[in-house]
Amino acid sequence: MLALGIEGTAHTIGVGIIEYEKDMKVLADSRKTYIPKAGIHPREAAQFMGDHIKPTLNDALARAKLEFPEIDLISFSQGPGLGPCLRTVATVARALSLYHNIPLLGVNHCVAHIEIGGQISGFKNPLVLYVSGANTQILMLNGGTYRIFGETLDVGIGNMLDKFGRAAGLEHPAGPKIEELARKSKNYIELPYTVKGTDMNFSGVLTAAEVLAKGHALEDVCFSLQETAFAMLAEVTERALCHLGAKEVLLTGGVGNNIRLQEMLALVAKGQGAKFSTPKGFLSDNGVMIALLGAKMHKAGVNQALEETKVIQGFRTDEVVISW
Ligand code: AMP
Ligand code: MG
Repeated sequence: MLALGIEGTAHTIGVGIIEYEKDMKVLADSRKTYIPKAGIHPREAAQFMGDHIKPTLNDALARAKLEFPEIDLISFSQGPGLGPCLRTVATVARALSLYHNIPLLGVNHCVAHIEIGGQISGFKNPLVLYVSGANTQILMLNGGTYRIFGETLDVGIGNMLDKFGRAAGLEHPAGPKIEELARKSKNYIELPYTVKGTDMNFSGVLTAAEVLAKGHALEDVCFSLQETAFAMLAEVTERALCHLGAKEVLLTGGVGNNIRLQEMLALVAKGQGAKFSTPKGFLSDNGVMIALLGAKMHKAGVNQALEETKVIQGFRTDEVVISW
């Protein structure tokens, strides 16, 4: 089947087109990312989505050498995300579905991040560390839903990095810039480390790093911030791995692009005799993962009436029944 997916939860408007039976062939992966001056403003981000959705759709169709009537399924990110962005994308997806008479599915953005990882790695039942802007979760499929074994109790790790970056004068998104600066230092300065059972807090380390940045070299603070926050993620992942006896570890979401985090998790997996993988090129928000999850749901017989495609701002990963 030919599946088209539209992503638009926060910063990236993405359109992916795939051919999917059991294997996935990516025919198009078009993306446009909103770069805010100071933190993502929901209304401005939604305006950005509205301005760029048509050219992004046209670009994807042109790359795939397809026209709308040939598409078998349209899916879009139903949540979680920023309300104005979600509504903009959902409205476009519904209009396209009605106009071209193509089935429509709203999909969970976090599950899409996990499914693309599973598809690319070939892992069947991994322990997942999902780290993006607003989300930080350690999960595994159990009894038909993803069960969350650990998560942030306050801010998501990506948002924490971006907030620190803003205070330190780095451009948004700060994650990649912090990574680059951290590579220049080996000077660790102690920062608050907060793991509670299998949950984590990041606001303490954020505040302390912001204070530290006023009197220390930025490279040293970036290095210390990464080492501390990623060690928290590694500890919780390792604990879950031991408890659950998982044999595969999957890292997904935008912060997963970070090479130092990849290194640390590969070590954790190795130490417990598990395989490690990450969906290179598809860690950040993209339309391909939305198309893939939609295609999997469709093949499993999931249908949605138009009323069921309303956006769900706080859509949790563990609410989705995984029937595929
Ligand atoms: P997502 O919404 O999944 O695309 O993730 C976005 C988040 O990933 C933002 O907070 C970025 O700062 C963060 N991010 C992207 N690349 C990196 C990187 N190399 N290191 C750390 N964080 C990153
Ligand atoms: Mg995301």
